[in-house]
Amino acid sequence: MKRALVCGAGGFIGGHMVKRLKAEGFWVRGVDIKAHEFSRLPADDFVLGDLRDPRIVAEVVDDGLDEIYQFAADMGGAGYIFSGEHDACVMHNSALCNLNTVHEAVAKNAGKIFYSSSACIYPESIQTDPDNPGLKEEMAYPAAPDSEYGWEKLFSERMYMAYHRNHGIEVHIARFHNIFGPQGTWTGGREKAPAAMCRKVAEAENGGEIEIWGDGEQTRSFLYIDECIEGVRRLMESDFAGPVNIGSDEMISINNLARMVAEIADKEIRLKHIEGPLGVRGRNSENTLIREKLGWSPAQSLRSGMEKTYAWIHAQVKAARA
Ligand code: NAD
Repeated sequence: MKRALVCGAGGFIGGHMVKRLKAEGFWVRGVDIKAHEFSRLPADDFVLGDLRDPRIVAEVVDDGLDEIYQFAADMGGAGYIFSGEHDACVMHNSALCNLNTVHEAVAKNAGKIFYSSSACIYPESIQTDPDNPGLKEEMAYPAAPDSEYGWEKLFSERMYMAYHRNHGIEVHIARFHNIFGPQGTWTGGREKAPAAMCRKVAEAENGGEIEIWGDGEQTRSFLYIDECIEGVRRLMESDFAGPVNIGSDEMISINNLARMVAEIADKEIRLKHIEGPLGVRGRNSENTLIREKLGWSPAQSLRSGMEKTYAWIHAQVKAARA
């Protein structure tokens, strides 16, 4: 039986990965500083521990791990990443998790390691047009991300690749583009746009109003969680190290995302534009490389993922009010 460690298993993507690996027959250990908020995980072992502490990392990365998935990071949506208030924590905490994990993976001869990077590594200067033609992997350089979160991700990508070159460990790196779906953060300040839209619409009366940060014409693409997990598993099974985009190329403006959610909820909703943290003006995933290397790319429509996500968040909002 293959043995896997999922770092950040108490979080959104890590929790889904635990379930996927168990369904595939792996023995799975999860580690996180917190338990999963929304789900009882089927992990064989779950360690509540801080990956900034090398002693914890030495404990969870034991001999004989076939695969490590490193999802742990100090992260959140635009309200968390772009306010500037968390910059030092984001860089310090996430870098320590990565430094400790890759170091210990080499020390214990782990089979391979996955690292979750982000579309936030791409330079701001090529994302000023809402009609973004798609970010190709090689556009990462010359580097100029617009957040410290993006800089830490870029540093860690390079560190994993350096460990691969100097110590021979098998490394796989993906740049996720806005992953969304059930069992992710939907309130509290760290939620990302799709979850925030679903919550606002679920809380609004029919005929009511929701707030949108900026003019709402900024664009993004969003990838449903099942396709993210599928992409990561395929990447781990491949001989391609990456970095590679794992994202949808179905770009949409934030206004139209809000309208889509209102339509799913069958509510008349007015959009009120207010000041708020925005991030880049236009971002989309370009999927030529993933198709070429994995013979696969995400294909599900945004609408189908948003329907499932709205249903889940609507139930959370109802339960919270009860
Ligand atoms: P998440 O916040 O739900 O999960 C991250 C988990 O890491 C959390 O449960 C958190 O408690 C844990 N963690 C943080 N610091 C830790 C520490 N010191 N020790 C142990 N655990 C710690 O986020 P997610 O959406 O599941 O994202 C997973 C990974 O994918 C992150 O690295 C994130 O940066 C990356 N990513 C996510 C997206 C997205 O849209 N969700 C986009 C790009 C990149």
